[in-house]
Amino acid sequence: MPDSRNWFAPTPDALRRAFAASRRDGSWLVWRQRRLLNFASNDYLGLAVCKGVRRAAAEAILTHGLGSGASRLVSGDDLAFHHLERALAEWKGYEDCLLVGSGMLANIGLLSCLADRHCRIYADRLNHASLLDGARLSGARLRRYAHRDLHMLAKQLAHDPPGRRIIVSDGVFSMDGDCADIRGLIRLAEQYDALLLIDDAHGIGTLPDPRGLTAMQRQAGHPRLIEVGTFGKAFGGYGAFILGTHALIEGLRQRLRTMIYSTALPPALADAMIEALRRVRKGVRTRHLQRNIARFRALAHDLPLAPSSTAIQPLMVGDNERALRIASKLRASGFYVPAIRPPTVPSGTARLRITLSALHTPAQIEALAARLKIILQA
Ligand SMILES: *Cc1c(COP(=O)(O)O)cnc(C)c1O
Repeated sequence: MPDSRNWFAPTPDALRRAFAASRRDGSWLVWRQRRLLNFASNDYLGLAVCKGVRRAAAEAILTHGLGSGASRLVSGDDLAFHHLERALAEWKGYEDCLLVGSGMLANIGLLSCLADRHCRIYADRLNHASLLDGARLSGARLRRYAHRDLHMLAKQLAHDPPGRRIIVSDGVFSMDGDCADIRGLIRLAEQYDALLLIDDAHGIGTLPDPRGLTAMQRQAGHPRLIEVGTFGKAFGGYGAFILGTHALIEGLRQRLRTMIYSTALPPALADAMIEALRRVRKGVRTRHLQRNIARFRALAHDLPLAPSSTAIQPLMVGDNERALRIASKLRASGFYVPAIRPPTVPSGTARLRITLSALHTPAQIEALAARLKIILQA
């Protein structure tokens, strides 16, 4: 007899994902009473621990309280949200901007709002899970193209009958650290009358132009382009933002269910993110990060690194068990680096996902590279 109490079978040990309750302290992580160097954080610029950002958040909480108390459309709206939206739109070069609770909520809400079953969504195979979930929830017909393969995408677009289309891609890919060809994607969007949604959660704040990949490729503000960014990564906070034309953003203010039916962000977070944006714009931390990336790539040039020039430096291992063994040896030597395995990445491509931060010192990066060489040769 089937038994509904057993629906949720435990995950086999080999695939189990474990929480690792810890506290972070700059570039360190305190885990099971041990201090490990953290190469597993998306706090790329160290803004999560920046004094000025923390002070802005603390003062806002002490003055105005913590929660917003309601959705923005009820009574949870706050001047700080509008201020931050205007600053982001201006900095990123778009007509308008809308804040959302998180990147996950932004992508799920956006795709399910823009697309319906009469629409086709074309998605890079390695897109973030939130983009895939949004596409599925929308009910649109979903086509996935091989990673960064614009020839395959062009064939799919040419093959399908005309109709509403959205092309969807990460900007900087979260598990590979490589970058989408924004110009090429825009060209196809123009040719086949599609919209282009770019999620640059990992590119904004970290690339040589801190405005991110669409700015690097001079496409920011293109009328076919919708861009998602998050505060959880380089901004060191939490939350997300959507950028696009006035018409698009106004449409979303009326229809984006993950914003309308969800409590607004804590206003103090917006105050903190205004401070974070000020620092991102200065570019000093991004230049530190860029120097650390160059330093690590030079030191680890003979290791099986993925071809990435961003803060995400995956060390390709292949075998799941071997990836776990290397991660465990690194922990024993004082380095926290996560082993990323399927289903987060395609099977046979288990890897160590090393993320670099502006907070890492040259000596810390040298120590990681040296330890990796010893462990991989063993
Ligand atoms: C982290 C991430 C998200 C999710 O953002 P959250 O604000 O953490 O929910 C979405 N897309 C990409 C590409 C990401 O890396």
